[in-house]
Amino acid sequence: MRTTLLVLLILYSIISIPNISLQASELEFDGDSAFSYLEAQCDFGTRPPGSENLTQCRGYIVDILRSFGWDVILQNFTYRDVDCANIVAHDSVSQNVSIILGAHYDTRPLADHDPNPENRDESVMGANDGASGTAVLMELARILPTQIRNKIELVFFDAEDSGSINGWQWIVGSNYYVDQMSPEIIANITMMILVDMVGDTNLRLQRELYSTRDLQNEVWSIAAHLGYDAIFQDSNGGYIIDDHHPFLNVGIPSLDIIHHDPFPATWHTIHDIPDRCNPDSLESVGRVLEYFITNTTGWTGEYEPNFVFPIELTLIGIFSVVAIITIAVYIRRK
Ligand SMILES: [Zn+2]
Repeated sequence: MRTTLLVLLILYSIISIPNISLQASELEFDGDSAFSYLEAQCDFGTRPPGSENLTQCRGYIVDILRSFGWDVILQNFTYRDVDCANIVAHDSVSQNVSIILGAHYDTRPLADHDPNPENRDESVMGANDGASGTAVLMELARILPTQIRNKIELVFFDAEDSGSINGWQWIVGSNYYVDQMSPEIIANITMMILVDMVGDTNLRLQRELYSTRDLQNEVWSIAAHLGYDAIFQDSNGGYIIDDHHPFLNVGIPSLDIIHHDPFPATWHTIHDIPDRCNPDSLESVGRVLEYFITNTTGWTGEYEPNFVFPIELTLIGIFSVVAIITIAVYIRRK
């Protein structure tokens, strides 16, 4: 009798092990769609903080997010007499935000790393440095399942990329954003994921070293599972000052997904244009995030290729078997 019970318990525990296996073909993030958002931002011209181009681009981003059903607010602030604004998007039905996805949408006012000194007074188009991360977030806004949107906040930071120009600091928008968070809100956030410079044709993502290692391990293992290990390289890069910093400083696990060590050749040059970017690069990062976010929030939706035996049924099954055996033993003894 004991042996039978043991066998039954083992059988139940085997079939109740969650076994979700998503394939890249089941993900919806579309690189071409994301690339169209990258190009559309660049169509406004270079977009440094306070510029008319950035104001128009901001309006475009807000309109697109609203068309996908998100509630959008502008978090306005002034820095060194320049009007700036972070764009914050929430689910329009309910909010129980635990995951923040971020990108900066401003571009660098000066191409101060251009190999040609004559170009260094020009501003940067920021197809990769600015538009690429923003485009990934916009495409996620389009395809993320409505069932999980209430857990997500999308934040597009202003004033990230003017550091060391005219006395400006780096990451001004994200610092302002975190300054405005209450302790209660901070306590509810389980993670922040930043995407920055993820559009280069030869995208190479090494591990950024300020990032929370456990979170990074999760995302990197998903990238390998989906076949993107040539892009998400399993090697340490460097320490990057980026918009994940203020979140780390208040204790929120944070990850920066960024092309660095070295930065792409177009970084802070006039050559940071859409021609040097690629839909496939955006798609690899977008799909890894889609997969990760969808699983992390506990919603599996259509993505259930393998049978998952619900834990409740498993417990009911075990209790029933025990009850039947107990009754059987009781009747026998009688
Ligand atoms: Zn930059």
